[in-house]
Amino acid sequence: MSVIGFLVLSFFGGCEEVQTLELTNERVKVVEGANGLIYELHNSDELFLVDVHSHYDKGEHVLLGRLKRGPQNCCEVVIGHIDIAVFDPDGYLIEAFSTHYKPRNIPKTGFKSSGFKSRFSAEVPEGSTVRLAYHSENKYLDAKSAGGKLNCSESKALLFDN
Ligand SMILES: [Zn+2]
Repeated sequence: MSVIGFLVLSFFGGCEEVQTLELTNERVKVVEGANGLIYELHNSDELFLVDVHSHYDKGEHVLLGRLKRGPQNCCEVVIGHIDIAVFDPDGYLIEAFSTHYKPRNIPKTGFKSSGFKSRFSAEVPEGSTVRLAYHSENKYLDAKSAGGKLNCSESKALLFDN
């Protein structure tokens, strides 16, 4: 298992020191949401999940966020999806699904980010964790299963050895 202590991530031109968890060799950022949910963002050197939050609407959680190019990633073609898994406070999986972001290839200028929006059950207890991870391979996606939601058979949000 690879061990990463501290990594420095740059956001919005500034510098912020972030302690990473030892789940994987990816950069993990944990954010506590205002509604009692915890967002576990699996970033890489090239891509960051930012502005991730959710709110209630019509009996569901609406999950919103953006996928942003890292400082070193100016020009690479980025076409994939985001895998999401929701775990209760004891770590049991409640729901797993995936979502596309728009535009499909993350813009190379301006904010250099694409937005995403998805929904999940409101029957999620306070203290639950929503894990999000970028996945570059679209071939594992199936739109017909999981009640009309996108489903990834090789979800990056589930394939962790923790
Ligand atoms: Zn996937």
